Amino acid sequence: MGSQCNGDDFEMPEIKIKFTKLFINGQFVDAVSGKTFETRDPRTGEVIARIAEGDKADVDLAVEAARQAFDHGKWPRMSGYERGRIMMKLADLIEQNTEELAILDSLDAGKLFTLGKLIDIPGTAHHLRYYAGAADKIHGETLKMSREFQGYTLKEPIGVVGHIIPWNFPSTMFFFKVSPALAAGCTMVVKPAEQSPLSALYHAHLAKEAGIPDGVLNVVTGFGPTAGAAISSHMDVDKVSFTGSPEVGRLVMEAAAKSNLKSVSLELGGKSPLIIFDDADLDMAVDLANKAIFYNKGEICVAGSRIYVQEGIYDEFAKKAAESAKKWVVGDPFDPRVHQGPQVDKGQFEKVLKYIEHGKREGATLLTGGRPCGDKGYYIEPTIFTDVEEDMLIAQDEIFGPVMSLMKFKTVEEAIERANNTRYGLAAGIVTKDLNIANRVSRSIRAGIIWINCYFGFDVDCPFGGYKMSGFGKDMGLHAMDKYLQVKSVVTPIYGSPWL
Ligand code: NAD
Repeated sequence: MGSQCNGDDFEMPEIKIKFTKLFINGQFVDAVSGKTFETRDPRTGEVIARIAEGDKADVDLAVEAARQAFDHGKWPRMSGYERGRIMMKLADLIEQNTEELAILDSLDAGKLFTLGKLIDIPGTAHHLRYYAGAADKIHGETLKMSREFQGYTLKEPIGVVGHIIPWNFPSTMFFFKVSPALAAGCTMVVKPAEQSPLSALYHAHLAKEAGIPDGVLNVVTGFGPTAGAAISSHMDVDKVSFTGSPEVGRLVMEAAAKSNLKSVSLELGGKSPLIIFDDADLDMAVDLANKAIFYNKGEICVAGSRIYVQEGIYDEFAKKAAESAKKWVVGDPFDPRVHQGPQVDKGQFEKVLKYIEHGKREGATLLTGGRPCGDKGYYIEPTIFTDVEEDMLIAQDEIFGPVMSLMKFKTVEEAIERANNTRYGLAAGIVTKDLNIANRVSRSIRAGIIWINCYFGFDVDCPFGGYKMSGFGKDMGLHAMDKYLQVKSVVTPIYGSPWL
């Protein structure tokens, strides 16, 4: 094993936990029940802080505040330009606090601190600015209709939104949801994942400082079956925007159906294929494939977890991929030399190891990795399986860990068929120099985003969301605004028009 674990010869930044209470109607408050829960450091399993444990009673208060702010407050009624100015201010404040926010996400979720400072936190400011710029460009259409009527459409904010988000990108997920909803003029309640509540509370504090009126942005920390379920079943929530697992997505839809038929959008899991053809630049393909699955320790919904390699280069690819995985440094996410931190928590750590055992039992060959790493915390070696069959669990289930399933294919047709052999449809990658193959395969794969000769090519301007059981509704891009807007038609008779 070439990876190192838990070196301690680097400088740790100073850690300050400032916010641990619910944020409702512009105030930090204890949970009605007085209960708290622990958030733990995945580097050690030790408790970082105790956080207020919101449940139905707290969600009721947060929704009431959001309802008041929507029905009577200034946020939905101010000009888009004014909303945009306040959002720009929030983006500035985030940038001024980049280091502190990156520390919180590394502590809570085991994310690389260097990448947090360079990518995740600046990315959230970018998101806010993109949608701030869109807030005054919400346009309806003019409808000519027939000779008796003319009409136009208005786009109005959908109302009170519940955002339920996961832990793998705490700040990014928060602003994927919050930025377009704020721009649209909605008010909202955000429930961060119980594994990673710290940065959400900090963002709420900055939102107040930026001038977002009380009640517009509320944060209720707590557990899914209590706080999360209270949001999705609430009669006064007009829309729920969920990112998480398909199992919970189904529960959210059921709760929406059984309550007020609120609008739902779901960003769910994936089992994304990366298809590498014989003509690929081998070193580039190995680098892409390893990053596609090991980045963020495989805890990324678009992870390239099924790697299909054409038979002509398969053996050489497998050898090089294993060599490269062994050089991947696993260790403390605050150490700038590290490529991969710990899995988010004990549950996730055990789940990934179980899948690895299952893969071995099913008859796949463990090419490299497969073991926990270090003597504390939730570290797992970058793992590659070969001889993987399509019907094995490790080729079908979303493992959400650093586990690659490597498979061989012969023809383009076979690659397309096998890439589509999944209940998911979130993302896919293609590596080839042949433009015709790239075009054909990208149109044939049923997934929401296709990367050609790259992976994780994301930008806020690029709509992102799933096909099939990866969900529906887009985050990012101007399409994301549509989730938070309603279209109203206004019609008037017209007399004596000179035109038909
Ligand atoms: P999860 O579904 O367990 O939890 C997500 C959120 O739902 C958490 O806030 C949780 O508290 C809440 N929740 C749990 N039970 C609930 C209930 N009964 N009612 C309402 N809310 C409830 O998912 P996770 O383990 O936190 O995240 C991993 C999953 O998220 C993976 O499947 C991953 O692919 C997916 N994900 C998808 C995207 C995307 O954009 N498509 C992005 C990140 C993660």
